[in-house]
Amino acid sequence: MRVGLGHDTHRLGENRPLLLGGVRVEHTRGLIGHSDADVVLHAVTDALLGAAGLGDIGDAYPDADPAWRDGDSSLFLRETLARLNRDGWGVVNLDVTIFAQEPKLGPVKAAIRRRLAELVGVDEDCVNVKAKTGEKVGHIGRAEAIACQAVVLIDRPTTFAGERGV
Ligand code: MG
Repeated sequence: MRVGLGHDTHRLGENRPLLLGGVRVEHTRGLIGHSDADVVLHAVTDALLGAAGLGDIGDAYPDADPAWRDGDSSLFLRETLARLNRDGWGVVNLDVTIFAQEPKLGPVKAAIRRRLAELVGVDEDCVNVKAKTGEKVGHIGRAEAIACQAVVLIDRPTTFAGERGV
């Protein structure tokens, strides 16, 4: 078994959709970034890469690459999962905390959990989504940015490791 930690922050700005965990969230502003800036999918992807010892999302999907401009971040997650699966890794559980002063995430937490479970290919009870405000201090509390932390546990059945002679 391996554990991985992911963290990401994106600035909030005008004229951008707000995507969190692959879910479109109604808000007056959205996250700014080279891709669709889905801070949750970026943190989860980084957690998976970390668990498997594969570097970080910047190595895998450089933001200088025009191919990823306004790109759907679920592609990063799907491709990373496929890489892990090829090496025999499966996801055990995923725990995510989203830091946002606004919008209120209570009403969308369940939808984000459902979508993450779908994207990762695990049961919903293997995914947890928590939401925190920034207590009105710092860049989160002033609603200048949204951040996300993700922790993932992956495992590789011993039969697979045995077959590979690992
Ligand atoms: Mg990012």
